[in-house]
Amino acid sequence: MSGSADPVSAAFDTILVLDFGSQYSHLITRRLREFNIYAEMLPCTQKISELGWTPKGIIMSGGPYSVYAEDAPHVDHDVFKLGVPILGICYGMQELAWINGKQVHRGEKREYGPSKLHVLDNTNPLFEGIDNSTVWMSHGDKLNGLPTGFKVIAISDNSPFCGIVHESDPIYGIQFHPEVTHSTMGKVLLKNFAVNLCHAAQNWTMENFIEKEITRIRELVGPTAEVIGAVSGGVDSTVASKLMTEAIGDRFHAILVDNGVLRLNEAATVKKTLVDGLGINLTVIDASEEFLTKLKGVTDPEKKRKIIGNTFIHVFEREAENIKPKDGQEIQYLLQGTLYPDVIESISFKGPSQTIKTHHNVGGLLEDMKLKLIEPLRELFKDEVRHLGELLGISHELVWRHPFPGPGIAIRVLGEVTKSQVEIARKADYIYIEEIRKAGLYDKISQAFACLLPVKSVGVMGDQRTYEQVIALRAIETTDFMTADWYPFEHSFLKNVASRIVNEVDGVARVTYDITSKPPATVEWE
Ligand code: GLN
Repeated sequence: MSGSADPVSAAFDTILVLDFGSQYSHLITRRLREFNIYAEMLPCTQKISELGWTPKGIIMSGGPYSVYAEDAPHVDHDVFKLGVPILGICYGMQELAWINGKQVHRGEKREYGPSKLHVLDNTNPLFEGIDNSTVWMSHGDKLNGLPTGFKVIAISDNSPFCGIVHESDPIYGIQFHPEVTHSTMGKVLLKNFAVNLCHAAQNWTMENFIEKEITRIRELVGPTAEVIGAVSGGVDSTVASKLMTEAIGDRFHAILVDNGVLRLNEAATVKKTLVDGLGINLTVIDASEEFLTKLKGVTDPEKKRKIIGNTFIHVFEREAENIKPKDGQEIQYLLQGTLYPDVIESISFKGPSQTIKTHHNVGGLLEDMKLKLIEPLRELFKDEVRHLGELLGISHELVWRHPFPGPGIAIRVLGEVTKSQVEIARKADYIYIEEIRKAGLYDKISQAFACLLPVKSVGVMGDQRTYEQVIALRAIETTDFMTADWYPFEHSFLKNVASRIVNEVDGVARVTYDITSKPPATVEWE
């Protein structure tokens, strides 16, 4: 799964980011895309002869290694044969220096944090508009002389070689990190590189992407082959399905597996939205009894997840068999809504000793069904997918829907999952989300849901003693789901939700609000 056959990089002017393992590498890609310049990241070990397309320019990222170390990663020297502009950032610059005279050594002290940039040559197109700005440093190694054939064009208080350029070729090195926001004009520098030096077109927009991607899908699938894909009611699978439908119409078959642990009315709602609203060729499979039977007596969260995952593959394969296209064609492709962060995760350079891991979201399905994979969102970040969804006419509500886990309400019913327990959890969840929407808070919260706890508690209703279960409400705010904080609702909001749930949902005597952040807790309870 390298970028060698990547069609987007061939269809748009592309800046290639070679990743040497810095934690910021993906940000270089993000920043460029904010300027409508398409950028793609590949591991620093990428062979240029195997690329299959020509980048407009190359950025070599930072990295945790030292270029002079025995097992340090090094770039394929063919990058210099392409004749395109090259920018080395931190390790990337040290790599340029290493290749051109080996003038890199360990500094007396690490330099970490802000520094002031002084540009010596104001006519240099890389530094247009960014002199005297704050730049962010993060290095322990330094250049102890100019690489052969280079000259200094910028300095900082501690770095006499803060910016360098080759005397005759468009090869640049900078010691600081322009991709982090602490480098106040960093974005501008990256744009200067891509536009002023690489002359990359600023045409990376979702409007252009739709057009090119539809053409690409049609070419790839050909005039007769059929495609199948699972939908969940979430943004990624809906956007991917709509795109497929735009490209090949009813030759795309969407399948929604009702596993019995979806949200209240979910299967019917998804059907209405996808079929009536978006014209997607959808089949809903009610397999709820099958799932619930398999989940009988199971309380271990990991077991629940495994059972649901395996049963899903089983049901999906069986239904795929049942779909016989009218013209006697075979299904040849499986659609998957993989996003760019998953791709980045699988290709990031993790060091000389570590193998690069690949993604196996649908590994099981692909092996058994002998289907080829089609991933139209593979190059997109989440915000790009959302924008694409809006352009494809998908409602704001769906495009901004909170994430929902694959095992669904099964991991929000703690303990054994039975039909009646699922019913309690989904009714409580429905009321909670309805109130959040009514209060205008849905888009401010990253994820919210109700959990049913496997404990009973005493209550009193209409002078009668009750002994019923407990609902826990969770709502979090986060930017990346790696860390999260609980949402500070008004007391009156919580009071109202609690009273509605206890009054309207049979089997609940008490409601609590989860005030734990992640870490130490996780977002989901199981
Ligand atoms: N490891 C190198 C150093 O310490 C490069 C660091 C970086 O690229 N941020 O100088």
